[in-house]
Amino acid sequence: PIVTGMEVEERPEVTYDQIGGLSEQIREVRETVELPLSKPELFEKIGIEPPKGVLLYGPPGTGKTLLAKAVAHETHATFIKIVASEFVRKYIGEGARIVRGVFELAKEKSPSIIFIDEIDAVAAKRLKSSTSGDREVQRTLMQLLAELDGFESRGDVGIVAATNRPDILDPALLRPGRFDRFIEVPLPNEEGRREILKIHTANMSLADDVDINLIARMTDGASGADLKAICTEAGMFAIREEREEVTMNDFLNAVDKITGIEKEEDFRRE
Ligand code: ATP
Repeated sequence: PIVTGMEVEERPEVTYDQIGGLSEQIREVRETVELPLSKPELFEKIGIEPPKGVLLYGPPGTGKTLLAKAVAHETHATFIKIVASEFVRKYIGEGARIVRGVFELAKEKSPSIIFIDEIDAVAAKRLKSSTSGDREVQRTLMQLLAELDGFESRGDVGIVAATNRPDILDPALLRPGRFDRFIEVPLPNEEGRREILKIHTANMSLADDVDINLIARMTDGASGADLKAICTEAGMFAIREEREEVTMNDFLNAVDKITGIEKEEDFRRE
């Protein structure tokens, strides 16, 4: 269905094995979001309320959306995404209404995962509201808090929020019963970059000289999204020259283009 302001996907295709370098985060997400959806009776039996919402935080392009989609896949859930910053840029005056609609749809389509991206856009620490824009943001946040408080989590709706700026969030959002679990999704280390490169090169025709380990070593600071862009760019170099295989040189050019790192010699090891 097309509902203004949200993106709805029935059981996304993303699986956990398409996510590199985040095994600890996957474990946590499975425990906090997946378990209540797949085995609500466990929580009932023990007599505790399942966690309602988790907050994923970390730099852009590190796989927060992927994590939320993979949970939806695993639990056969509908994935409903809203981007909070759009309430400020695009759907001005409609934030509160859209938030209400999202929770209604989530119940209707349960099991479901509500993914709220860039939540800081409506949930920054309260400034002294003066402009009408501020008041609108305020109303959207109030509606979001009301929805979070109002729905009892019988486990069939999971809520995942994401932000690059956990430091500016309104503490009201982080109270128990709202977003009470925080999971850091950091930039990948060398091992993580190797895993991510393997995932994104799995279907590529690679020449024998392609050295994934070296590319992983060279790309300190690159996000998963950057690494994916490097793979795509390397493939584009090969296509432009009408070759059937992607060579190491294509990757080095792509690394240079995406990250500005040029000298692979510094990363070669004996
Ligand atoms: P943002 O905060 O900017 O929304 P995000 O953390 O949600 O970013 P994604 O949208 O999940 O990042 O990542 C963008 C794309 O980059 C993904 O579709 C995927 O192709 C690739 N990617 C990012 N992180 C990873 C990862 N850990 N493993 C494999 N691919 C990744």
